[in-house]
Amino acid sequence: MKLTEAYTILNLDPSATPEEAKKQYRKLAKQFHPDINKDADAEAKFKKINEAYEIVESGVDPEQPAMDWNNPFGHGHGNRHVYDPFSAIFNRGNSAKRQYNSTNIEIQTSISFRESVQGCKKEISYSRQTKCPHCHGSGNKPVNNGCKKCGGKGQVTTQSAGSIFITTCPSCHGHSQTNPCTPCSSTGVTEAEASVHVSVPAAVVDGKVLRLRGMGNFAGTLMGLQDQFTDVYLHIKVKPDADMRLVGEDVVSDLNVSLLDALRGCSSNIKTIDGDKMVDVPAGTKNKDEVILSVGDHNIKHRVIIGVSYPTDVNKLIDVLLEEGK
Ligand SMILES: [Zn+2]
Ligand SMILES: [Zn+2]
Repeated sequence: MKLTEAYTILNLDPSATPEEAKKQYRKLAKQFHPDINKDADAEAKFKKINEAYEIVESGVDPEQPAMDWNNPFGHGHGNRHVYDPFSAIFNRGNSAKRQYNSTNIEIQTSISFRESVQGCKKEISYSRQTKCPHCHGSGNKPVNNGCKKCGGKGQVTTQSAGSIFITTCPSCHGHSQTNPCTPCSSTGVTEAEASVHVSVPAAVVDGKVLRLRGMGNFAGTLMGLQDQFTDVYLHIKVKPDADMRLVGEDVVSDLNVSLLDALRGCSSNIKTIDGDKMVDVPAGTKNKDEVILSVGDHNIKHRVIIGVSYPTDVNKLIDVLLEEGK
């Protein structure tokens, strides 16, 4: 593959900056990754894209005769292995022993009954493990060995018959070296404070768990390119209200009136999420009848269930009614 061909495969202009090339490569690699793309030729395309990017990144045309590229197998220059794009997943390729924190983060937040009814926005702060900026998550820092042929990396990348090979640099014999990363004590991660704005939906019940995808701990780098994070599970604690409850999406409360008030109709003060409100109980209301109010910022239904209390002394009630009927 020529350098110009590599640019074409990546759909890049040869004047593209390394940053643009990387961005385009990430996009294509994601699109054609055989784990994601189920097309029959996805794997072949993915390999081509990798091959092209290796060439574009190195900036060296492998078909220039001045280089060793035409003979990638060489003559006994150290170890070599076929490039396996999957070995790069989750950094298995270059840091096999690294174990990132794969646990999700569980946090709890309390909201008021009103917030649970009509939804709310919450700013949640928590601590999580992020990729160490000093070693980019590898736990160690590569040291340039000064070799011009391999750019100090100790390895060269070549291609043959559509496969990519990483071989030990024939010039420096792969004297690559790394130093442990001190800021993260070689763990590859650092503890950081995170803050996230969460939209809690309306009609949330106590104990509801919201999943915040990818907001958790650093869990490695997919294909050596895309950082992976675990999730945050946000447990919602709703402060209960003594007078109101949530039934489906409605607020429900009870209002007890005497039989006399139910027969004649009455007005009463009830508690709503907007504060106290006057509710009119129409004349002739029966037990379990409902009066509907509209409350909150989004016209939520507040059902007031009327409970009619029957008097213990019916004669007294009859007397009252007879008196009124006169
Ligand atoms: Zn580090
Ligand atoms: Zn070298």
